[in-house]
Amino acid sequence: MAERQRMLLLGGTGEAAALAARLAGDEWVDVTTSLAGRTRTPGELAGRVRTGGFGGADGLAAYLKTEHIDLLIDATHPYAARMPHAAAEACARMGVPRLRLLRPPWVPVTGDRWIAATNLAAAAAMLPGLAMRVFLTTGQRDLDAFESLTGLWFLIRLIEPPAEAIPLAHCQVHLDRGPFRVEDEIALLRKHRIEAVVSKNSGGAATTGKIAAARILGLPVIMIDRPAQPSGETVDTIDACLAWIGARVG
Ligand code: NAP
Repeated sequence: MAERQRMLLLGGTGEAAALAARLAGDEWVDVTTSLAGRTRTPGELAGRVRTGGFGGADGLAAYLKTEHIDLLIDATHPYAARMPHAAAEACARMGVPRLRLLRPPWVPVTGDRWIAATNLAAAAAMLPGLAMRVFLTTGQRDLDAFESLTGLWFLIRLIEPPAEAIPLAHCQVHLDRGPFRVEDEIALLRKHRIEAVVSKNSGGAATTGKIAAARILGLPVIMIDRPAQPSGETVDTIDACLAWIGARVG
């Protein structure tokens, strides 16, 4: 039997976890999922896992070489700003085939009141005058951008207790892990008398409930643009990803 191909799966998303589960025990592919290590309690992952940064494109290129990686799937989050570029550079340098698995963004539908923001700072600048009570779902590392808004109150949803002090003057932390149901999101927004939602356009079903809830309640959503992606092959479903892998192994 031919040797199994060694695949590096850049993870940190539900798609990566689902792909690792689909490939667990595969006779053609031997998968290692890589996590940045930011989440202290990542969900259950099938197969081998490594944790921690590689040290930029140079470090990743060295890892690809020493670990004899044959192919790489970049299934990092749409807002992972650095890893996809480092992966593109390292794979190009080492001649390792790379595929970006990127979930499609949400698109506004009738009734949505979205306001596009190019980045977090632009989103923060839009809030005064728009809302006094804000639901922030951008993640703990992105809170600094809202620090100067001392006259506003924030409901901050996080997956796990904050590792550092929250930099916002008036806020409440709400710990919860998706998927979130629309009716629960409506109840949450009503309970805290939220007037605007700030969100990344993460796409996917698990966190879309707040977008539907804002629509139903007529609330504005400040939607932060996705960062630019490196060029190269991109798919938006796990099945398409498996087809790409299948064409290269076996
Ligand atoms: P990032 O800006 O692209 O990454 C920052 C650094 O973290 C990278 O330069 C790399 O360090 C390391 N890193 C990122 N992803 C890694 C991975 N899968 N395996 C090993 N090292 C990784 O991304 P981020 O926004 O900090 O996100 C970090 C992780 O959280 C990603 O895996 C992403 O999928 C996940 N995530 C991010 C968001 C978000 O909103 N940004 C949301 C949910 C999940 P080195 O340069 O040292 O290699």
